[in-house]
Amino acid sequence: MPEEIEFPVIESGFNFECTQCGDCCRGDQQVFLNLLDLYNMALFSGFTSTDRLFKQGTAELAQDVNHSVWRPRIRFKERPLRFCPFLINELSDDGRLKGFCRLHPHHKPLICALAPVGCEYDSRKKQASFLLVPPAARCPGMEKETHNKLHILTERYREALRYQSLYFELLELLKSKHLTEEDYREHLYTFKVNRPFKEIFFGLMRKIRGWVQMEISQQVVISGNK
Ligand code: SF4
Ligand code: SF4
Repeated sequence: MPEEIEFPVIESGFNFECTQCGDCCRGDQQVFLNLLDLYNMALFSGFTSTDRLFKQGTAELAQDVNHSVWRPRIRFKERPLRFCPFLINELSDDGRLKGFCRLHPHHKPLICALAPVGCEYDSRKKQASFLLVPPAARCPGMEKETHNKLHILTERYREALRYQSLYFELLELLKSKHLTEEDYREHLYTFKVNRPFKEIFFGLMRKIRGWVQMEISQQVVISGNK
């Protein structure tokens, strides 16, 4: 089993400046998405439903490391190299390969927008911690001495981080249901984007909490009848 890498916790600040080399958007990177990311990506693509992202092959579902839940991620192109479909590759005047994100700044997935800050959320304690995670193995931005304050970043993405925490709490609830990939896709990750995200999200939360609650009540009735 590969050893788990431990990343340093960011207390208040970190040094970093992106050079736009694009290395974190190519190769073996995995860009996991939350529900707001799916919504933004569907809007950016001009789709009326997130389902099109899966049908068109921009997004796919993958199991988390514990194989307990299915989560959406960007499906990277495979040829001629492996890279994100939203990456624009360009050559700079001095012949270096540069990378720009088509989703920047308003539709960019949270994981990319926060990089190199990784957000770890403990759904049981309802607590987030922030770690310094190099976006790519040799990210040149990590060598820069530009200082960044964590609270400025978390304030900028406060709403997106809040939705992500609630999404992780939903996943925690769903773990017990042992749903299939198709169930996740149909019941959690497919929704129309014709309303404000807030309405869609809280509708999904009510549906899933109702389901889980119903299952718990049924279990209580069944065990009470034994
Ligand atoms: S690898 Fe680092 S420097 Fe290069 S684009 Fe990604 S974040 Fe920026
Ligand atoms: S969404 Fe943008 S920043 Fe994220 S991997 Fe794709 S191109 Fe890079």
